[in-house]
Amino acid sequence: MASSSAGRALLCLAATAALLHTPAPRRARHRVPPARAAARMPPPEEPGAPEEESGLDYAASVALGTAKRREREAALGASDMEVTFLGTASCVPSITRGVSCTSLRYDGTTWLFDAGEGSQIQVQRSHLVHPGKVDAIFVTHLHGDHSFGLPGLMCLIGQNRVKGDAPVEVFGPQGLRLYLRASLKLTHARVAAPYVVHELVGVPLLAPPGFRPPPPPFKQSETQLERNFLADPDKNFGEQRGGRDIRPDADGAWTLAPRGALAVRAAPMRHTVPCVGYVAVEPDKAGTLDVAKVEPILARNAEALKEAGVKEPKRIFRLLKDMARDQTFTFPDGTALKRSECVGEDKPGRVVVVCGDTADASALLPLLPPRGADVVVHEATNARLEPWDADKTDAEVAEATAAHGHSTPTMAARFAKLAAAKCLALTHFSPRYRGDSALSSISTMDKIEASARQGFDEDVIAAWDLLTLPVNAKTVEEAARREGDAERLAVADAVRKERAKATAAKSKVPVRKPRAPPAKAPPARRTATAR
Ligand SMILES: [Zn+2]
Ligand SMILES: [Zn+2]
Repeated sequence: MASSSAGRALLCLAATAALLHTPAPRRARHRVPPARAAARMPPPEEPGAPEEESGLDYAASVALGTAKRREREAALGASDMEVTFLGTASCVPSITRGVSCTSLRYDGTTWLFDAGEGSQIQVQRSHLVHPGKVDAIFVTHLHGDHSFGLPGLMCLIGQNRVKGDAPVEVFGPQGLRLYLRASLKLTHARVAAPYVVHELVGVPLLAPPGFRPPPPPFKQSETQLERNFLADPDKNFGEQRGGRDIRPDADGAWTLAPRGALAVRAAPMRHTVPCVGYVAVEPDKAGTLDVAKVEPILARNAEALKEAGVKEPKRIFRLLKDMARDQTFTFPDGTALKRSECVGEDKPGRVVVVCGDTADASALLPLLPPRGADVVVHEATNARLEPWDADKTDAEVAEATAAHGHSTPTMAARFAKLAAAKCLALTHFSPRYRGDSALSSISTMDKIEASARQGFDEDVIAAWDLLTLPVNAKTVEEAARREGDAERLAVADAVRKERAKATAAKSKVPVRKPRAPPAKAPPARRTATAR
């Protein structure tokens, strides 16, 4: 039941934290007199600083790195379907990176995948993800770096919601319902958004070889808590009736049916607690109608069609597009038109894969259409990087990472290749990589990307907090050249305008004078705190 899974998750998180984050070699530190320390900020401590950073103070390095990232993001193009990374660290949030939370926005719908601690802050940092507009949250597993932020986020959503909005749909493995219910009820959280939890029943524990799960804690008290206090949903604390128990289909995967235009299925991941990854698929769109071919036929049949009861003969255009590919329409004058003769090839829908924490995501592959994925979001918790791993080989790092149910960039690239992905976005990085915009931090992420590129020829990006990745993006010029993309381009342009408007509106908000910068650059996270 819920508490046992959540409790086990806490233990595993602590164990994983202790094992994953080997302290980096200590650097010699000089005592700097206070006056001098305030006068100049020391360079960031991320190792492997690139040449261009030498001589720059931390603030200047961050400014340059931020400009670099903006430039890179702008070059990604635009799309009406976007993935925004709200937190890209594993284990614990730091002052430079949030933990797992990723949004997918499409067709007026906002979905979140995971809600690690501090997700409500990250959502507010993004001007693209509006807390009041979150429709669904998909939780991959109950480890704290994917779920500690959920109760707080539900309250933030509740405070920004319009009365009468449909309840937020929360999906995830068993235990999620009781975890969220208990958190909101025991904390008297009366501002939580109306929500329902749809649990995926029977997600198996696919533990890495050699991993022995701890026994479930607090079994007795969990049962009493449930019986006495937590047995039913309580709408005073947000939870509505109607949460479903979703059982696996015959192929062992789950079909979720959330509100929105995308179909979603889930499959189990190899990890240290029951964990799933999600595949979101856009429906195929009908090809372009050859109007020049159909119009003359329609014109000479217009009167006869009206007499036959078709008040608007142009409705035949829609009818032709909606027919099956080999279906034929016969006009009153006997002209027979096969759909394939007047409608171009259907435009395949896009596919986004969001993996949970995993050492092996291959159970997701059968859920993909033959054309593969457009974007794969895959964890890359640890990579072999110096100086941290100077005494280890690639194979040793990969083996230790997999033993804890995680992946290296190379393992992520292997999956992306099998998924025929057009773009691999890496995330869930060890907190030992600081992940801010200083040039040295970007250099670390560049090395992680390079490591993935060795096994994968398509686009690779090591995500950073608040990066927005357009799905199957096209630059305006590219899209304009491609027949049939006009509609998608129009939506993409609308998205750009919306973004520009939001940025402009944000810049008008009076900003409090910032406090004096810290005398010291934020330190790289050396150890993780177990909770
Ligand atoms: Zn995690
Ligand atoms: Zn995990």
